[in-house]
Amino acid sequence: MKNKFFIKTFGCQMNISDSERIETVLLSAKFKKVNSENLADFVIVNSCSVRQAAENRAISTLKNAKKNKQVAIVTGCSAVKEKLRFKNFADFVLDIKDLQKWPDIILNKNTLQQDLGSLNYLKFQPKYQTKFHAYVPIMTGCNNFCSYCVVPYSRGREVSRSVKEIIKEVKSLIKQGYKAITLLGQNVNSYSGKFNNQKIDFPALLKIINDIDGDFWIWFVTSHPKDMSLKLIKTIKNCKRVCHYIHLPAQAGNDVILKKMNRKYTHAKYLKLVKSIKKYLPDACLSTDIIVGFPGETKKQFLDTCKLFKEVKYDMAFLAKYSPRPGTISFKMKDDILQDEKKRRENFLNDILRKTALKNNKKYLGKTCEILVEKKDIGRTRTFKLVKFNSDKDLIGKIVNVKITKAMAWILQGEIKN
Ligand code: SF4
Repeated sequence: MKNKFFIKTFGCQMNISDSERIETVLLSAKFKKVNSENLADFVIVNSCSVRQAAENRAISTLKNAKKNKQVAIVTGCSAVKEKLRFKNFADFVLDIKDLQKWPDIILNKNTLQQDLGSLNYLKFQPKYQTKFHAYVPIMTGCNNFCSYCVVPYSRGREVSRSVKEIIKEVKSLIKQGYKAITLLGQNVNSYSGKFNNQKIDFPALLKIINDIDGDFWIWFVTSHPKDMSLKLIKTIKNCKRVCHYIHLPAQAGNDVILKKMNRKYTHAKYLKLVKSIKKYLPDACLSTDIIVGFPGETKKQFLDTCKLFKEVKYDMAFLAKYSPRPGTISFKMKDDILQDEKKRRENFLNDILRKTALKNNKKYLGKTCEILVEKKDIGRTRTFKLVKFNSDKDLIGKIVNVKITKAMAWILQGEIKN
């Protein structure tokens, strides 16, 4: 019987989290997971549409599967957005929202056209990738319609999970000994739920999770700068389990480009927010996402992004060269910045980042930090800094104290203290 499956995941943590739920559903339907795509009967690609390169790799995986006479299945942002196009490469194009029906659909092609109903797929208990750090979605979708982004079209509008369901999942993780929880959402600051008949926003949810008994850390992504409030910053300060790591995508530093991107904040407003974060959380680490070479971005406008980098002094940044995504507003704009120029701008920002990250990391020298060990000799601080250390023991999944002895731009090095 054909029942072996392999999942290849591209893109963000939300896709990783979705893949964990796909695994649960298939395993409970007696499918078997294999760790190499060559051994699989069913190759499942969880696609990402943020960059052209990721989409190309997804398509090439599907083509390979078809060539090898395997069943090629695709889901994720690219596939759902462009179902017709992806039908050329895959046997099935499936929406994660229909997850409960996947086993039937995969085993019987004729059911594909049926009404699939809608059991909230987030109700499935995921097969978490590690035993110590779990991603917990608190909402899916997005209402923001940034001009370059397909998420509102592919994942749909914002839907928040119920507080009860989130608490149940977090409590179960803590009981199993998980040490870190990352609360996930395209824009966590738009969270809206109900608890004890009261409306709950994201800071209130954070406080409720913080008050759950246990020894664990809380991270969250992603925050939209237009929605991040002072109330949230003060909540982070007052919640001991919430870690001081803030991912705050700026995307650009020039007001004209920000407007074209439909980001709904200005350079000045973003900077004011960063100043509040630094005031209330002086030890916080900040990271961002940036798109270089957005249509029409002049060299002068790009310099405003460089200025922002120098002002904020980021610890990390995820830099992307603009690539037009079909179906978005910016797809209709002329992609007029040459690849070489995009690369030059990316390198330029990377140089500033390397300097600020190194300077920030040097502040850790001589300090002893709590580290959640992820691999044999690598872990993360509460502020999401990577730390390398030497140890003969198997400490994976444990929180240990490490004295920082060396600081580099992208990683710290230290010695175990206990
Ligand atoms: S906030 Fe903008 S970039 Fe983020 S998911 Fe929503 S539309 Fe996309």
